[in-house]
Amino acid sequence: MRKKIVAGNWKMNKTSTSAVTELASAIVQAELPESVTVVLHPPALWLERVAAIIKERINLGAQNVHPKVEGAFTGEISATMLKAAGVSYCIVGHSERRQYFAESDAFVATKIADLLAVGITPIVCCGESLTIRENNTYLAFVEEQIKACLMGFTATELAKIVIAYEPIWAIGTGKTATPQQAQEMHAHIRLILEHLAGKDIAAQVPLLYGGSCKPDNAKELFALPDVDGGLIGGAALQASDFVQLIHSF
Ligand code: PEP
Repeated sequence: MRKKIVAGNWKMNKTSTSAVTELASAIVQAELPESVTVVLHPPALWLERVAAIIKERINLGAQNVHPKVEGAFTGEISATMLKAAGVSYCIVGHSERRQYFAESDAFVATKIADLLAVGITPIVCCGESLTIRENNTYLAFVEEQIKACLMGFTATELAKIVIAYEPIWAIGTGKTATPQQAQEMHAHIRLILEHLAGKDIAAQVPLLYGGSCKPDNAKELFALPDVDGGLIGGAALQASDFVQLIHSF
């Protein structure tokens, strides 16, 4: 059985220790189903504070990593450092990092390798722009993105990753992919994984949907055969919304 995952990407939000403590405490105190893996991705500055609040029940996630162990990379944090802070998941290839920091698929691939080397699960993001969706080339675009990021990995390594399909036109816009659009892409991603790693491994990799996923649309998305949960932005900033999402399977 595939893991069900709800991961909250706080992005560069929650600017005080009290706001961070309040959100993490409210989530950890809520009743959460054992069957769902919950991950919180606070800003790097708050990782250790959140780790101290959530302890074992909730997983700690990072939003970014630099693919070198140590050295002269001002402002960066390595996978080894994240591991030492208690991180077990890390987002890579998010469209905001591709857009604002010019991160390429090749760079994303090196991050994945470093995370796997220290035992952190990469959540590999992919997704097309509105133009690509409207051009009807979205399946080929995402296929290329995934292959460029994952081609160099063995089947055993690919068994340890999570993929998040996040159409850029749905991120933070209030426009969610329809269940048909989400299922079509998730089924396609599973087929790509089948070509890269074989049927058994493709069947066990969790595929998350991200893009304006909210309590009022999560149930129908999470019920789709190839959607195994969500990577959540805006709705992860309110404990009540996020907890409702966790209960949406
Ligand atoms: C995201 O950026 O990963 C995301 C899914 O954001 P939102 O839920 O706000 O669309």
